[in-house]
Amino acid sequence: MMSQEALGPEGGSANPAPLHPAEVGTHSFEQEFTLNLLSSDGDRLEQIEAALEKIADGSYGACEECGGRIPKARLELIPDTAYCVKCASKLEG
Ligand SMILES: [Zn+2]
Repeated sequence: MMSQEALGPEGGSANPAPLHPAEVGTHSFEQEFTLNLLSSDGDRLEQIEAALEKIADGSYGACEECGGRIPKARLELIPDTAYCVKCASKLEG
């Protein structure tokens, strides 16, 4: 009985208490990030691990080359990127 509920989150009858809007934003971003990680292939594992370390130490989202902020839209597309658009295109030649 318990396991059925755990396996089917959409079948649950009770909704959790509504989250603070700020928490909802963070939560969904983290969920997307995790989904992107799960769909990434193994070659990117190192970059992903580096990104996770940055999240842990709070430097995630900063460009490794120029130190500037990486736009959130770019992070959503390439969650494990270490560079802003400008530096990435410069480094890629
Ligand atoms: Zn940069």
